[in-house]
Amino acid sequence: MQGDLLSAKDVLRHVFGYDEFRSGQEAIVEHLIRGEDALILMPTGAGKSLCYQIPGLLRSGVVVVVSPLVALMHDQIDALRALGVTAISLHAGMDWTEMREAEDAVARGEIKFLYVAPERFENPRFLRLLDSLQIALFAIDEAHCVSQWGHDFRPAYLDLSILPERWPATPRVALTATATDLTRQEIVARLQLQNAKQFISSFDRPNIRYEVVEKNKERQQLLSFINQQHAGESGIVYCLSRQKTDSVAAFLKNAGISALPYHAGLSPEERYENQRIFQQEDGVVMVSTIAFGMGINKPDVRFVAHIDIPRSIEAYYQETGRAGRDGLPATAWLAYGLQDLMQQRKLIESSNGDEAFKQRSTDALNAMLAFCEATSCRRQRLLAYFGETTEPCGNCDICLEPPELWDATVAAQKLLSAIYRLQHEYGEFSGAKHLVDILHGKKTERVLQQGHDALTVFGIGRELDEGQWRGLIRQLLAAEYLEMQSEGFRNTYRLAKKSYDLLRGKKKIRLRKIQALSKAHSNNQMPAQNRSIFDLGPADAKLFEALKQWRLQEAKSNGVPAYVVFKDITLYQIVINKPKDRAALAQIEGIGDKKISNYGEAILALLK
Ligand code: ADP
Ligand code: ZN
Repeated sequence: MQGDLLSAKDVLRHVFGYDEFRSGQEAIVEHLIRGEDALILMPTGAGKSLCYQIPGLLRSGVVVVVSPLVALMHDQIDALRALGVTAISLHAGMDWTEMREAEDAVARGEIKFLYVAPERFENPRFLRLLDSLQIALFAIDEAHCVSQWGHDFRPAYLDLSILPERWPATPRVALTATATDLTRQEIVARLQLQNAKQFISSFDRPNIRYEVVEKNKERQQLLSFINQQHAGESGIVYCLSRQKTDSVAAFLKNAGISALPYHAGLSPEERYENQRIFQQEDGVVMVSTIAFGMGINKPDVRFVAHIDIPRSIEAYYQETGRAGRDGLPATAWLAYGLQDLMQQRKLIESSNGDEAFKQRSTDALNAMLAFCEATSCRRQRLLAYFGETTEPCGNCDICLEPPELWDATVAAQKLLSAIYRLQHEYGEFSGAKHLVDILHGKKTERVLQQGHDALTVFGIGRELDEGQWRGLIRQLLAAEYLEMQSEGFRNTYRLAKKSYDLLRGKKKIRLRKIQALSKAHSNNQMPAQNRSIFDLGPADAKLFEALKQWRLQEAKSNGVPAYVVFKDITLYQIVINKPKDRAALAQIEGIGDKKISNYGEAILALLK
């Protein structure tokens, strides 16, 4: 055992260039080296790949990795090759000759890591090839793709039950960053991992700061967020529609940010090219629909911004998890408004799912709304969703600037009785705009036509502005005092059961204070902070830039992402430590033997 552990550490140092295992990795590596099965649940960026790669390197035979996307495979393969490890993929995009050559290389025993899509197991030729090989282990990456309830469901993952049937003695390890219980149970059942040890890490991503703001001018808000907190850094902005993706990307570009769009409406070439630029160059902001997802392995994404509310907490967590994989500070920023909710509700209504599906989707959306309207630590809420309990984090907007609460009982009663009266005196349900007009006592065309100015609630709510009333509606929805109903193009509100106690004065309610619109604009950003994560003096900053330039050239000429050459943290440590020779260079995190031999001289020359 001792011997194994020593050699695992050697591999960590010499191949990967890291001194220490991260929490959880060592136990997993030890377990897999012994040839046992495992299920590994770790959040994005925690370092899952190493967990099967090191045992794979230490066991004899080829490691077969099942991965859902070609982009993901390429990423892993690029990274392994840069470390001097042989890796190849077999996928449907290859032509016959390429496929043959790759298979032959595998058959000759020249390849350590073989990446395949799950569909490959439907191919008899491939099965025969595997039968002829010694297999070190099967790694099933993104194992949550077996889950029929999940958003990444991939039918071919179900066929992976062939693994235990055909190769019962070969160890299997399933890996995922999706944490819900249901998904975990499905993975165990589908992949027959009942006897596998489960390694479940905390899902906390302490380096990510969560911030949620109310939307008023989303583009301006987004722009000031980027400029104030992440100028010149790379990030992802998620929007709901293709059209918005294009227009927001154009808007940012106009404002001097190197932004690119990404969505399913672009041609495959454009998408590929935009993704390539994002991966390869520094400081690119990708504005995208959720089509830009699983395939992103870039470790130095400094922020993920949502300018439309995500459809569930799970989706939000997956998407925000793409920030800060390198463990350095990153921000998850979300701007949301009532309008978004309606948009999402419409999507749910118009989907072809059955009633049960629609109900589940609506519940998921409501949980997301409750997260947005939270008055206590956001991280606590997120982790609670995944069954973990923690202390308030000190690194979310609410911990950093606790919201002011106010007694909203009277305002809520006014709003609820407006809804109640409209229903009972006129048999009508209304949307937010009309409700606010009534509370403000505005004689709009609709008010006059329908005689709503005769309501006793007409004009009783002038103390709050429209934004504040809308905010109250959102909060009451989140707290389940109101229910939202879609009627054609508009959404209307009705009272939920529990609102009657509030109306009758049997209950009080305290809510987060919503600022008047006139004040909100200047205040709804977190205070500007100098959040440059690499705090360097002018000379060092110049050196850092020079190293980045060198890295970009190197990445371009090898056709790999910049971080495959070196990650930011590695460049940073080079700048700080200014190693004089190869031995000193080898001490730096992320520099293993292969990188020394490839880049050692160039770096040392640059430092002089
Ligand atoms: P995941 O698959 O869990 O999202 P990765 O396997 O891509 O995460 O790892 C995330 C990043 O962390 C990678 O850049 C990887 O090289 C780095 N990493 C993994 N393990 C260690 C370690 N022990 N020390 C330093 N960096 C590590
Ligand atoms: Zn917090």
